[in-house]
Amino acid sequence: MKQMEQMYEGKAKKVYRTEDKDYVIVSYKDDATAFNGLKKGTILGKGEINNLMSNHLFQYLEKNGIKTHFEKEINSRNTLVKAVEIVPLEVIVRNIAAGSFSKRLGVEEGTVFENPTVEFSYKNDNLGDPLINDDFALALKLATREEIKEIKSMALKINELLKAYFIECNIKLVDFKLEFGRFHNQIILADEISPDTCRLWDKYTNEKLDKDRFRRDMGNVEGAYAEVRKRLGF
Ligand code: UDP
Repeated sequence: MKQMEQMYEGKAKKVYRTEDKDYVIVSYKDDATAFNGLKKGTILGKGEINNLMSNHLFQYLEKNGIKTHFEKEINSRNTLVKAVEIVPLEVIVRNIAAGSFSKRLGVEEGTVFENPTVEFSYKNDNLGDPLINDDFALALKLATREEIKEIKSMALKINELLKAYFIECNIKLVDFKLEFGRFHNQIILADEISPDTCRLWDKYTNEKLDKDRFRRDMGNVEGAYAEVRKRLGF
């Protein structure tokens, strides 16, 4: 499908219109940001890895009954996806304590949960993506009660599928962020699943193989992304 004018440029992706209003092309950049845009940098090759990894995982999820926006990989950085109306919620699933959970609640990083947690942040850069609950999401009219139920149920199913997939590659899925969209009255998985949006730890050493290496200036960021690519085999 023909790529037309740019619609939007975000922190890590550009989005282009196509001749069909139901489809857009996403183009992944090497730009990296953290702490709500305060920290900026480049992770060489990240755009390619995130694009290929998201497509690889979205196709795996589709095979297992999860509806996603994935349509067709165009090349290593660009993918044709369904044009959804994004639900302005960041849906975070956690299996192991880390990041903001550990900081806010005083729980040591690495503490394994008996059951996964699902939380929502309101996707709003001006407010710094604040943590909200279901009632707040309803009050703000971000989604309907039925949509919230569907989003939570899909997020937990996706977690089970991804956890099983990653552990086969000797990677622990610590936590991750999902975004959902509306497409012809259906909730489908959108955005990306990549080392930018997941915490991925080596199964044996707990070595971090994700964007925390960039956030925390740990070095070898590119190496970590490349390692994930190698282990997943895409
Ligand atoms: N995350 C994300 N985008 C955001 C915030 C979080 O992709 O804007 C991901 C993050 O990479 C991690 C998970 O969601 O895998 C949980 O992040 P957390 O709430 O611990 O926040 P952080 O420590 O990243 O600020």
